[in-house]
Formats: sequence, C-alpha cells, structure tokens
Amino acid sequence: MIYIKSASEIEKMRKSCHIVGGLLDALEGLIRPGISTLELDKFAEDYILSRGGKPSFKGYQVDGLPPFSGSICTSINEQIVHGIPNANSILKEGDIIGVDVGVNLNGYNADAARTYRVGKISSEAEKLLQVTKESLYRGIAAAIPGNRIGDISYAIGSFVKSKGYFVADNLTGHGIGRNLHEEPMIPNMGKPGRGPRLSSGMTLAIEPMVNIGTNRVFENGWEFKVWDNSLSAHFEHTILITDGEPEILTVAE
Ligand code: MG
Repeated sequence: MIYIKSASEIEKMRKSCHIVGGLLDALEGLIRPGISTLELDKFAEDYILSRGGKPSFKGYQVDGLPPFSGSICTSINEQIVHGIPNANSILKEGDIIGVDVGVNLNGYNADAARTYRVGKISSEAEKLLQVTKESLYRGIAAAIPGNRIGDISYAIGSFVKSKGYFVADNLTGHGIGRNLHEEPMIPNMGKPGRGPRLSSGMTLAIEPMVNIGTNRVFENGWEFKVWDNSLSAHFEHTILITDGEPEILTVAE
C-alpha cells in the first residue's frame, strides 16, 4: 500500500531531506583527486550525526550479505550503485563518482544521490551526467496527481533511450517515509498510463541509473556494476507530490 503523508509527516521529511541536500552540496567542495571514499564516508557520517540524524544505509540488511558498512554509497565509474566506501579506493582525475545519501531524522527518511566529476572529465562522461540528470528532472515533472507511476518511468526511460544510453536493469526508485523503501516501486522505464495512480501527499525517491554501453548489470555482493564496464551515472531526489508542481525535498535548507 502507498502511504499518503500528513502535513506533520511532510514537515518531518522536509527536515531529514534538508540534511541530505546540504550534505550533497558540501561534498562538491570535498571531492577531488587523491581523496579516498572512506574519507568521504567519514565526512558524511559526521555531517549527518552532528545534525541529529542517522545514516539510513549504515547497517542496512539484505538477505545473504553482511550489513552495509558505509554511511553513504560511493560508486565510481562503471559501478552503478551500492559501492562500499573504503580506504583503498582513491579518486583519480577524470573519474566520476555517484554518492547516494540516506538520512533518518525523527523516524522519517530522506534519500538522494548525485554523480560528481573528479577534476576534469571526458566529454563522454560529461554527456552521461547531463543526460542522467535531465532524465531525473523529466521523471520528476511527470509526478503530478492523476498521472501514474508508468508516466514517470516512461519520461525517464524514453529520454535515456533517445540519447542512445541504457537504464540499468532491475534497479528502481521507490516510495519513502517511515521506511527507506516503501511502495510503490518506480522503474526507470515503462509504459505511460500504467501502474498505481499518483496523488498529492505521496513522497517518492526517483532515481535513474544510466549506463553508456548496456542495460546489463553485474552483481558482486553489495556492488552493482555495468556488465561491459562502461560508465554509469546516478541522480536521485526525494520529492513530494502536491496539487500543483512536484516539490523537490532533498535540497539544502
Ligand atoms: Mg533510493
């Protein structure tokens, strides 16, 4: 079932979302060649804890895997999502790195991601970032009352396809609130007019994951990477469906 949030729940989500948005902005100034993903994780954890939040991903459990050890996910180049921060993964000039942040504050979760440039990147990587980001904003624009989940999926997937890129298989957006992952599932490709109907008060994490070379995914423990090792990018916002335009919640205060 899809939970419709009350006004007071939405206020709580706004607060957790501000932490995520502020942290993603702060990371812009930190990401550079030579820094390890573990240093980014430490910065992120301190940022979240000092604002009274908890990192939603730390200790996250999935059957058959050890609990997730990071406070954020750091996914470099061909890694799509769920990369585990560690001291040995050092950013290099020309890399791209997706950082996914989840925060729980007062029982309500926020979730957003951004893919960053490390120094100067190739024009191919630049185009991937632009297309993935634009596909997110096209998906968000379709999140209006009366539309269906499939309209969001179609807006994302058809745009990505038109640019010659691929939506990663089996990885989707989701509802969010008291739980990090709630119904509905939000695929990044689909048919318009299908799926659950959208209504005001729903909070959704919309998150295209876009690959250059193939839709196929290789799963190695927590980490998902592109089958052919081509580049992958990820952008995500938690949004609120309103009676008018959707509101992006994961922005700095
Ligand atoms: Mg998410």
